[in-house]
Amino acid sequence: MSLIVMKFGGSSVGDAERMKRVARRVVDRQVEGHQCVVVVSAMGDTTDELIDLSKQICDDTPPPREMDMLLTTGEQMSVALLSMAIQSLGQEAVSYTGWQAGMLTDTTHGKARITDIQPHRVLKAAEANKVVIVAGFQGMSEDGEITTLGRGGSDTTAVALAAAIEADLCEIYTDVDGIYSTDPRIVNCARKLNEISYDEMLELANLGAAVLHPRAVEYAKNYNVALVVRSSFTHNEGTYVKEEAVMEQGLVVRGIAFDKNVVRVSILGVPERPGQLAKVFTSLAQAQIDVDIIVQSGVLNGVADFSFSTTLTERERAVQVIEGIQDEIGFREVTSEDNLVKVSIVGAGMVSTPGVAAKMFEVISGLGASINMVSTSEIKMSCVIDLEYLQDVVKGLHTAYGLDTHEQVFVGGPADRR
Ligand code: ADP
Ligand code: ASP
Ligand code: MG
Repeated sequence: MSLIVMKFGGSSVGDAERMKRVARRVVDRQVEGHQCVVVVSAMGDTTDELIDLSKQICDDTPPPREMDMLLTTGEQMSVALLSMAIQSLGQEAVSYTGWQAGMLTDTTHGKARITDIQPHRVLKAAEANKVVIVAGFQGMSEDGEITTLGRGGSDTTAVALAAAIEADLCEIYTDVDGIYSTDPRIVNCARKLNEISYDEMLELANLGAAVLHPRAVEYAKNYNVALVVRSSFTHNEGTYVKEEAVMEQGLVVRGIAFDKNVVRVSILGVPERPGQLAKVFTSLAQAQIDVDIIVQSGVLNGVADFSFSTTLTERERAVQVIEGIQDEIGFREVTSEDNLVKVSIVGAGMVSTPGVAAKMFEVISGLGASINMVSTSEIKMSCVIDLEYLQDVVKGLHTAYGLDTHEQVFVGGPADRR
């Protein structure tokens, strides 16, 4: 008998009918002779709706502790309903919140990290042949507060739990039937991958491919969790994420990701003095603001401009932090821009293949888009462009790097478009 973690995302449990279908699928798996531990997300767009609700109540940023208290209710609804659906099919089941399941985290509300998992309750119930249903995305900090793991964090709950209970397999059920060369909602000739390595998937996830939460991939790699992404709407084979993946030969770029959660902050008229950059980025780091790409222009008449990218969610805080050190740095002005997207190409063979970067620039400029920021590493290259060019650029790059296929892409459930 094997122990399996099955994770169902929001669209897979979007309404009562889908919830019942998931219940059937879980029971079928249990009847096949597996012990199933299920991790589930909030139904459909519940998390977004809860965020909207908080905005109607608070003019300013809501208190992070209360925000976590609010958002975790979404997953709590799902676990209770799924447990009821499974029990009404005659299978014993029990639902647990993240803290009941022993998910311990640090204290960073909104993007907490798992620090420990004490899964004895989960294991005991599984041994008693109950389907165990655990709320994704949530945990409890050492000081007893409820925390969340960041948007999309239920994937991380599933993989971390799979590692902690030494599950034989972690299955991530979603609304596409695997991992594709790019988001199949943007490119309908995207290519489905049979396998992908942890490292390449980690890059894609970090660069915005929503199909897996980056920390989930990190966990899978560190604990060698057997991981598969598949559809909750079909029985098609999914995509295996593993250490050594057999990948199609001859493709230098394996995947294209994009991230709309990006803003560019520019600091203009900075007097040239040693240590200025260090002051800016130390202040941002102290405020726990993640900075991605940094660009500095040449010095003219003793002053320079520089800009950095961060997430849209951090925009206001980032600007406030910079304004707070204006006297110390002596810059003229700080501005911020949105309506941008970071488009990235990923492939382990890129570093040893000449012309990959040149091709990316050619495609983007050929489509009339300007490149606002660039960053490169051994296995990836990213360009920040205006949002309006997103679809054309991703399609153009997909074709240019030889990734197009003519196989049918599966997106969503029957008659489903989100
Ligand atoms: P869930 O609610 O199941 O967690 P998500 O919306 O978080 O689902 O992730 C699934 C979505 O990820 C897909 O619907 C697809 O639009 C998007 N996606 C982005 N990049 C990729 C990719 N490379 N392969 C497959 N799906 C992708
Ligand atoms: N419900 C949470 C979100 O929408 C977590 C998840 O779906 O993984 O981000
Ligand atoms: Mg997700």
